[in-house]
Order: sequence, then structure tokens, then C-alpha cells
Amino acid sequence: QRAPQLLAEPRDVTGPRPLAALVDAGLEVPVLGGGRVRHVNLDLAASAPALASVAEQVAAQTPWYSSVHRGTGYPSELATALVDDARAAIGRHLGARDDDVVVFTRNTTDALNLLAGAVPGEVVVLDIEHHANLLPWRDRRVVVARDTIEATIADLEAELARRPAALLTITGASNVTGEVLPIARLAELAHAHGARIAVDAAQLLPHRRVDLAASDLDYVAASGHKAYAPYGTGVLVGRADWLDRATPHLAGGGAVAEVGVDAVRWLDSPARHEAGTPNVLGIAAFASALAELEWLGEPARLAHERALTERLHRGLATIDGVHVVRGFRDVHDTVGIATLELERGSVGLAAAALSAEHGISVRAGRFCAHPFFDRVARRSNGLRASLGVGSRADDVDRFVEALAKLVADGP
Ligand code: PLP
Repeated sequence: QRAPQLLAEPRDVTGPRPLAALVDAGLEVPVLGGGRVRHVNLDLAASAPALASVAEQVAAQTPWYSSVHRGTGYPSELATALVDDARAAIGRHLGARDDDVVVFTRNTTDALNLLAGAVPGEVVVLDIEHHANLLPWRDRRVVVARDTIEATIADLEAELARRPAALLTITGASNVTGEVLPIARLAELAHAHGARIAVDAAQLLPHRRVDLAASDLDYVAASGHKAYAPYGTGVLVGRADWLDRATPHLAGGGAVAEVGVDAVRWLDSPARHEAGTPNVLGIAAFASALAELEWLGEPARLAHERALTERLHRGLATIDGVHVVRGFRDVHDTVGIATLELERGSVGLAAAALSAEHGISVRAGRFCAHPFFDRVARRSNGLRASLGVGSRADDVDRFVEALAKLVADGP
């Protein structure tokens, strides 16, 4: 049996590249009244199913199950090489500089909590953030965003000028509205005021290339399960100095150079923060998913996603009483996420009916972004449809038709 390798090897990219298949392609789910229909997954922003190729790689890797960094047997050497190669590949994909580190975490939340334990000072953050990029920051100064990004940037600048901050942390794309933030410009702003910038790329990474060096970002946090890899793996990538000085995120084996009864000598990052056995399968799969996204190419993915997102908005515009939630009037670039409100009726009931009657998965609520949602929305809850690689035009059409019917039938 051939030992598994990362997908990050060079591939033939001369021919046409098919849009990637996800593991849930063609899945059928039961609907009320009996029968089964093809599942329409419009909840990719929460957790995207793995790419089929990534699932194949995980399956190939599974028999080679072994400990990492400790064993001397061949499977253990293989597991160690997979983690090392994945670390290098993910760093390359994210444009890490030579002296940046790639720390493996459980997810974005874990990565941001790790960074929060390492920041030597105050943190400026907008109110538009997912709770994962709001709650971990102990000395946070929250700036309430305005209805244009221009006015918001002016307010951020005033806040950074008013009192020095160590870090500006910001989402790359909103998980509520899909709006893409101008991160390179914000990096310039932060640096001009002596602060560093961290980007919560949980929603941006599945849709766009994120590049630390090109955008001059100091830290990027992301999750594998939103980028077509399995659950359980995230990364924090960025400057080593704060991370090397910080208290280890997890204390235990693998993070230490020497342990005495009274004294401990901790390793530098990334090992410093990665005590315990890592998620070898998840880490290799994360690297493979990013390599596959790279291979599919950003232009093809963008064209596919933009066409579907426009189709979604055109469809929603035909339904009476549907209002799409926006944060910024002057941000027109969005990833494949749309959150809508209903003038009449409950989005919770609509989401339940979409699933039970039509086999369509969406999400209803405030999307772990309560301050933002409560400020920009008219109603107390929204319904979010999100798409990406593997989404189809007839997914969008089935959703729009089903929603139109539910709205027409009334609460
Ligand atoms: N940040 C954003 C913008 C998100 O959308 C999410 C998840 O929805 C997170 C952070 C948290 O991601 P995770 O649950 O993988 O830690």
C-alpha cells in the first residue's frame, strides 16, 4: 500500500479544471410526507463539507495511524513528515514570511484565544466581529462601525491615534453579510499607528487567497472545517516574537525543552503552544484542501461564486417582504454569503420548513455576532444562505423557489 502524501504536489494544470466535488454531492435527505430529495447545502459558512479529494486522502492516510514526533517506526516518521510538510505548505499558501510561525490549533476560536494570551497591550476591534474575534480580547476597545467603510476607517484611525494599541484585529469577511474588508489598507493604518494587525480569516480563506506578506498582515487565524477540510484543525500564522514570549497556550508534552521538579524550560513557538498529540489527519487534510483550492484557481472559483451569488440576490429581489442585511453601503465585494430578514413571519420557522419540506439547509439566528446583527438588522433574527465550491445554480433556484412559496403561504 502506497504511503499517503499531501495533495500539495505539482499537478497538471494545463487542462480545464472542473469545479470541485464535495463529499456531500448527491446526498439525499428525507422530507415531510415521505420520500427523499437531493440535499441542498446552503450552510457552507458554518462548516463546509470536505472536498471529495481531501476525504480520499484522509481515507488513504488512516491505516498509517501513528504517533507524531516521538516514534521511530516508519508510520510515525510518516505522520511526522505529514505534519511538517503540512505546516510548510499552509505557511506557503498563506504567504507566511521566513520568520513567521504556523501554530496548529483546533479552530479559529482557539487561534484567536491563543493570540489574545500573547498580545502585550490593548486591542482595537470593530463591533462587526464574530464572537470569536470579540470575546477573547481582554483589554479590548470596541469601535462601533458606521454604515460606510470609509467613515469606519476614519473612526478606527481616530481611535488608534487617541491612545496607542498593540493590535487591531478585524475579520477578513463578515460571516453575517459576506462583506469583504479592505485588510491591506487596514494593515497600513494599524502600522502607521504602531499597532499590529490580526485578520480573522475564517470566512475569507474559503473564498479568497489570503496572503500575509502581500497584504502586510501580522497574524491570520483560520479554520480547516470552513475551508473544505474536516473539523478539528485551525491555524494561527504570524510573527513569532509575541508568541515566543507568551505563556504556552496548552501546557504539556511537546511544548518543553526541559522539565525539572521546580523549573520548566519551554520551547519557542510553534511547539510552545502545541502541547499534546496533534490532529495529524486534520492537519494534513487542511493542507490538502488549501492545495486543492489553489489548484482550482482563484479566478475560476471567484467567477463560479460570483455568478451564483448574483443569481441568489436576483432571486431574493423577486420575493416580497425579503430584506438583505448589509453592514456597509460602500462595500460591494462579498463572499458567497447572504443574510436576509422577513418582513412577516419567523425566519426560524422558515429555516425549519426549508429543511423539513424541501431538504434545504440554511441557518437562522444572529450568527454569533450579536452586537453587529442587533445594530444592522431590523428584526431579531436573520436567515443566512451561504455557498462556495461545489454549490450549483439549481441549489440557488430551489432555495429561492422554496422561500418564495413559504413567504407566499404566510406565517
Ligand atoms: N470568525 C468568523 C468570521 C466565523 O464565521 C467563525 C465561525 O462561524 C469563527 C470565527 C469561529 O470559527 P470556529 O468555530 O471554527 O472557531
